[in-house]
Amino acid sequence: MVTQELLENLKTGKLSCVEHVRTQLALIKKENPRINAFLYVAEKEALVRALELDKGSRKGKLFGLTLGVKANINVQGMPISCASRTLDAYKGTYNADVIERIIAEGGIVLGMTNMDEFACGISGETSAFGPTINPVAPKRVPGGSSSGSAAAVAVGFCDLALGSDTGGSIRNPASHCGIVGMKPSYGRVSRYGLIDLSMSLDQIGPLAPDTFGCALLFDVIAGRSENDPMTLSEPVHVQQLPKTIALSPAFEALCTDKKIYRLIKEKVLAVAKEKHLKLVELDFRYVTLAVQAYYPIVYTEFFSGTRKFDGRRYGRRIEEACNEEVLRRILGGRIISCAEHEGRYYRKALRAARAIRDEFEKAFKIVDLLAMPTTPELPHLLGKLPSPEAAYAYDAFTIPANLAGICAGVVPCGLIDKVPVGLQLYAGRDHTLLGGMGMFGQHLNNTMP
Ligand code: GLN
Repeated sequence: MVTQELLENLKTGKLSCVEHVRTQLALIKKENPRINAFLYVAEKEALVRALELDKGSRKGKLFGLTLGVKANINVQGMPISCASRTLDAYKGTYNADVIERIIAEGGIVLGMTNMDEFACGISGETSAFGPTINPVAPKRVPGGSSSGSAAAVAVGFCDLALGSDTGGSIRNPASHCGIVGMKPSYGRVSRYGLIDLSMSLDQIGPLAPDTFGCALLFDVIAGRSENDPMTLSEPVHVQQLPKTIALSPAFEALCTDKKIYRLIKEKVLAVAKEKHLKLVELDFRYVTLAVQAYYPIVYTEFFSGTRKFDGRRYGRRIEEACNEEVLRRILGGRIISCAEHEGRYYRKALRAARAIRDEFEKAFKIVDLLAMPTTPELPHLLGKLPSPEAAYAYDAFTIPANLAGICAGVVPCGLIDKVPVGLQLYAGRDHTLLGGMGMFGQHLNNTMP
């Protein structure tokens, strides 16, 4: 329990906040030029804050813990670039809701982390500021788009991190870097202050070295906010232990690397036995439509969201500064929006999303958890980004949760060829998901050599 112990040491004063921050800053100075996880390190701000905390009453759920923040979440005074030259000149003018909550609980923002440009990607290679390196499997990509947040947590630059997940961007890098990551249910965490990729699918969520840290950060950032009308007013529950878990042949069929599925299944069987979970099999008809339904929605909403980057307010016009993938989405979104009076793409995609949502709603009346891989393959070698079609298909396991608006989380499950593999859980409710992730986390701690 890395996070729990650390928090205890900070709260009791056994470790001072200043000392803690200094150690991590030194590690960042030494290793970040190689790993490229942080785009901006808030050295002075973090030290001033740590000193302030050391003088105070040592209270707060996150007291003294440090955070990396994905560069698409507003933090006042820091460069919020979305890893794009488009926003070269932009500094956050306010704090996102999640940042306000973190600060109120004694957390320390260490800086802004690298990502795929505008959160479009699967590998962390499309940042305008160079790729992030996977600290655990250095020849391979760390996953994306929240590449810097995952790598920073994995290497210990910071204790916890924030990412955003539209179709898998928290879960995919968590899996590839061997850490824990969670996409909360839609509306659970305020999106106020997030520069959106696709507003009907985006959620901010936690990345952590262990399930304790993940649940802790979720607990801090979740809840109703007046700034985001989509947030739910329902209180955040304490964790609940699941009783049933499902595997599905529909997801098994989507997994191209069979070694990954075998490992996932093995782990599910072991945990089900150890924790007395009833194991069932469920089939899904529409999940195979998820990738095709996702992209028309993302293209359309991204096109609309990027119209503000017209070069007058924030720096450069996006079309003149962005990479190929970002441009593809803008141009595609423009075409879809023009054709939309015939309801050909966007509305049809929304119908498919609804069919997927209905299917999951039914499933979670029968089971508490659904287990599956996070990605169909191991992370590719750095510099070998596949074609757009193949990259899109890579999110087949993560996208359904975003389309259905439900929560999903990833816990480390083991290694294949020395590369980390994350097991993904879906659940109908966040507190059941966290309970389930905790069970898998415990199992892993007990079975690690
Ligand atoms: N890979 C997906 C995309 O490029 C998901 C990105 C994300 O979740 N931000 O759209």
